[in-house]
Amino acid sequence: MTGRSADRGRTLVSQALIDRFGTRASTASSVLDHHSHDESWHFATRPDIVVYPETTDEVRAIVGLARDHRVPIVPFGAGTSMEGNCNPVRGGVSIDTSRMDAILSIDPDNRDCRVQAGVRRTHLNEMVRDTGLFFPVDPGADASIGGMAATRASGTMTLLHGSMRDLVTGLTVVLGTGDVVQTGGRVRKSSSGYDLTRLLIGSEGTLGVITEVGLWLKPIPSASVAGLFAFDHTSDLVECVHDVTALGLSLARLEFMDPLEVRILNAYSKTSFPEKPTLLMELQGDDNRVQSDFAVLLEIAAPVSTLVHKAITQEQKNALWKLRHDIAYAEKQYRPGADLFVTDVAVPLSNLATLVESVRRHAADTGILAPIVGHIGDGNIHVTLLIDRSSDAEVEAAERFHDWIIGEALRLEGTITGEHGVGMGKRKYLAIEHGISVSVMRGIKAKLDPLDLMNPGKIFPDDYA
Ligand SMILES: Cc1cc2nc3c(=O)[nH]c(=O)nc-3n(C[C@H](O)[C@H](O)[C@H](O)COP(=O)(O)OP(=O)(O)OC[C@H]3O[C@@H](n4cnc5c(N)ncnc54)[C@H](O)[C@@H]3O)c2cc1C
Repeated sequence: MTGRSADRGRTLVSQALIDRFGTRASTASSVLDHHSHDESWHFATRPDIVVYPETTDEVRAIVGLARDHRVPIVPFGAGTSMEGNCNPVRGGVSIDTSRMDAILSIDPDNRDCRVQAGVRRTHLNEMVRDTGLFFPVDPGADASIGGMAATRASGTMTLLHGSMRDLVTGLTVVLGTGDVVQTGGRVRKSSSGYDLTRLLIGSEGTLGVITEVGLWLKPIPSASVAGLFAFDHTSDLVECVHDVTALGLSLARLEFMDPLEVRILNAYSKTSFPEKPTLLMELQGDDNRVQSDFAVLLEIAAPVSTLVHKAITQEQKNALWKLRHDIAYAEKQYRPGADLFVTDVAVPLSNLATLVESVRRHAADTGILAPIVGHIGDGNIHVTLLIDRSSDAEVEAAERFHDWIIGEALRLEGTITGEHGVGMGKRKYLAIEHGISVSVMRGIKAKLDPLDLMNPGKIFPDDYA
């Protein structure tokens, strides 16, 4: 398509969307800006128009219209992703799912529910609380369930409860072909055909628009206890994590902070935790189990760590986890004016201490402020580079650091992204991790999105045939 006819197609699509959706379609500057970026470091690009459908049929109509005129389609949930995943790098139609916010069903007996894709995770939890159940995937941000499925999100409680990969029962999706498919079901196991649910989970809007999501719910634990342990050495901390996870204790959260991150949090929260490798943990279950597991945990951790803080009441636990959730604010305050370049790699637990120590050495060698947090039970760490964006030298150094950490993670048998997805930021590393398998992924993309309209410019490098 030539430039002029492409422009004409975009204009026609925008006009048709305004005609059909009225105030639920917008080209207002502030709306385009809001949909031009996520929460990441990556550059923003505006869509041509933003549209707010309410049903699967409306999404199908939008996809059909965009297909007719070869206009890109970019699903948008809450815009909290961290790799430029929802940035419309080639413009087009941003499909904002925020009005698809209905809880369609809750079945306490089967412990499952079905929601529209735009439902936020905190809203879902408010709506199911009275049943004694909850949805445990907690990525920190108040993300949409559709966005969480599309990024295969996990979070602080993956260790005990699983990630989106484990907790989605099925999906309704408008594919890039324009077809609407239902995947999965409401059973705990099935050997029936290819697992399309898990293919679409983590597809980052590049295969279709998820309109409905079925989810497993979990019983709200009757008791929990949390603690903060300071270790002298990261290797002892990782060994302790290895031992306690191997014992099958009812561990729901195991979060790591390196000494620099603790210093940053202390400065922000006016706390005085020891600036040492630190483990934040939470056990969940019934009271007897939690108490006895905590005693075992203490026995294992005591020789190599100090229990600095124990949180028993809900208030104490909330205060402790608020510290963890405030990290981004604390980092911003620590170096005023700095931008946060957040990395996300995962390695096998047995290689984690090596990775953390080599990151700390590399940060010292390069002079980059690089605090580390991690969902350590999953072998997943985030090194955040605090960078002055107005300095070309710092930006280049940050990019070199990123290349380096990806190389280290792969050398240590890990992955280029533990939970944030590939988005714009990690496309160049995809083939390094997956080799020829990227061709298989490309083939699937070509089948489900033959016109390459679904969130183009994501996951695959441009030059990948
Ligand atoms: C402070 C903070 C902490 C975070 N911590 C974590 C964490 O611990 N774990 C974690 O996994 N993530 C974390 N994230 C990242 C983010 O919250 C997740 O990636 C989340 O799943 C994104 O959901 P969203 O609704 O914001 O999606 P968006 O950002 O809107 O979109 C993300 C991607 O999904 C696609 N998409 C959105 N909706 C749909 C749909 N209905 N159908 C098809 N594709 C769709 C988009 O096109 C895009 O590719 C964090 C982010 C922040 C800001």
